[in-house]
Amino acid sequence: MPSPEKFRKTLDDFHVEQEIIDEMYRGFDILTSKTNKKIKSAFFTQALKVMNEKLPPEKVREIFEANACCKSGAREKNSREIAKTYAGLDIADRLKLISMRPYLNMGSAELDEDGFLLVHAVSYHPGDKYECVCPTVSKIKRDCAIPREYCCCCGGHFKYHYEIMLGVKLKPVEIVSSPHDTDGEKPCAFRYYIQDAQLPAGNPGNKNFCIGSPIVLS
Ligand SMILES: [Zn+2]
Ligand SMILES: [Zn+2]
Repeated sequence: MPSPEKFRKTLDDFHVEQEIIDEMYRGFDILTSKTNKKIKSAFFTQALKVMNEKLPPEKVREIFEANACCKSGAREKNSREIAKTYAGLDIADRLKLISMRPYLNMGSAELDEDGFLLVHAVSYHPGDKYECVCPTVSKIKRDCAIPREYCCCCGGHFKYHYEIMLGVKLKPVEIVSSPHDTDGEKPCAFRYYIQDAQLPAGNPGNKNFCIGSPIVLS
């Protein structure tokens, strides 16, 4: 969630009703990228509570995902380089190599037994608690927890980069865990459905393709 300005614009892009927007922003008139973190985090706590109550879950997810942080610059360049360097390898092997390269800041990832991509985001663990990986809300003392759906921002970040690195399309399935609703007991972690039907034969990702019914987003 890099910029409150972009977030506000996204609400219009997704046709969120003015009445809902007014309720989300009640008490928060001027919000910009320069607004201090504590205020931004209080705003997102309030905004998300309203969104969770008034909007369908897919829409909340899509809006936060559309605001995912750090998609360009050095991160993107690294992701493209990984895609090129490991082009000959299958997904499981690529994931092993990505997980062994902490400089990428892509955490660690694996395919679970159903062929879903499981991403454990970089674990920020400054004290004895995990922090959300999102720079907009990390490392501050808050009065109350932000709803866990905030992590769709983090999930969108990893989705973007893993799609490039693996050369597949991913569909976000769920937030496996979040520091927000566990009081920092658990890190940000995500599970994605691999949509690409072009996986090499024998790849565990292929197991997904026999699932005929649409994936239920939780
Ligand atoms: Zn973020
Ligand atoms: Zn997070």
